[in-house]
Amino acid sequence: MEKNYHVCTGCGLLCDDIEVESENNTVTKVYTACRVGVAHMKEARKGEADFLVDNKPVDESTAISEAASILKNARNPLIFGLGTSTSETQKIAIELAKKINATLDDTSSFCLGPLAEALIQDKLKSCTLDDVRNKADVIVYWGTDPSDSHPRQLSKHSYFPRGIEKQRGWEEERTAIAIDVRKSHTAKICGNYFFQIPQKGDAEFIDALIAGISGKLPKTSYNYPPKKILELANILKGAKFGVIFAGRGLIYSLENLEPLFKLMKILNEKANFHLIPMISSYNTMGFNENLFAETGYVNSVKFENGAVKHGPEYSVVESLKAKTVDAALIIGSDPLLILPGSIAKNMLEIPVISMDHCETLTSKHAKIYMNTAINGVEAGGSATRMDRVKVSFEPAIETKHPSEEVILKKIMEAL
Ligand code: SF4
Repeated sequence: MEKNYHVCTGCGLLCDDIEVESENNTVTKVYTACRVGVAHMKEARKGEADFLVDNKPVDESTAISEAASILKNARNPLIFGLGTSTSETQKIAIELAKKINATLDDTSSFCLGPLAEALIQDKLKSCTLDDVRNKADVIVYWGTDPSDSHPRQLSKHSYFPRGIEKQRGWEEERTAIAIDVRKSHTAKICGNYFFQIPQKGDAEFIDALIAGISGKLPKTSYNYPPKKILELANILKGAKFGVIFAGRGLIYSLENLEPLFKLMKILNEKANFHLIPMISSYNTMGFNENLFAETGYVNSVKFENGAVKHGPEYSVVESLKAKTVDAALIIGSDPLLILPGSIAKNMLEIPVISMDHCETLTSKHAKIYMNTAINGVEAGGSATRMDRVKVSFEPAIETKHPSEEVILKKIMEAL
């Protein structure tokens, strides 16, 4: 019987206070984690087959040489996924992409990529989750519902915990605000500070809020009560340490980040405001950072004989839509499930290699499936938390399954 502290890789919070009990290399009990984390650590492994080619069991070396052959013979292979991979794996995947002239992308190209890029380029003021716990007096959840997606966010980092400069507890010292199109669980916790806006209404709401902060009459085409916007503007202006947790709901609604840049600029003229992206997969920020360090871009790149091309046409969505890729290596992701069917179906026409710890729609249709270790449970490494803090983790249990890192290295050697 073992008992130790571990990092949960169930979401972008990377909680590092998890206790795990294990027996016979199986996690039997998980303490401190939320329901998502418990499920991730205890029940994540579903796939039992080790290596499959055309749905038939093969040994590791056969799967690797078949995978290498597909990638070597492809004119423009796609490498996609990596949001739930360690930084070490991501760096090898970038090297592999260079070697085989691949298109390389992750989910951030259709999620929070623009925000990650702005943060990496220091275009937006940010802070750590520890700063939020210790100092924040005004917390805005915008287009995000952490109560569902990151269940310990409010209790461990933002609204409820006592911090060094916030000893009296949430009711007295913190104001939590939700801006969303629906009354989410988080919005319910925010009570009267829930601002419900129409779909695609965020840019206008930001303009009206900026007007309110500047002492002008806030107006929206959807007639949001100016009194409510002025009330919000006054709370934000009075923040000693404010933070906006920006979610997909906000970013999907904006055509570009200009309204957000303007809002953050005026908020920092009148108060002290920070922004943290609500990233779901635990190391998406790590992928964005690692690719940026190598190429100057956070996603959607195409390597070509030492040069790097970048643009929306190299995103997973556009590459599959235009059928410009002729093979795909999918690492820890399920594009057949998460992409629109009309685009994802084009994957059925090309050879797909799927590396995952569980059976997915993509793995079921893949030419080659490799059952890899679960990062954070069965394999160690490092990652970047959603607030850009680096976190390292050790495996909680041993496994017979190879890590993504080991498999990628072997594919590189077999090319
Ligand atoms: Fe794991 Fe996220 Fe839950 Fe923390 S909040 S225990 S990282 S799933």
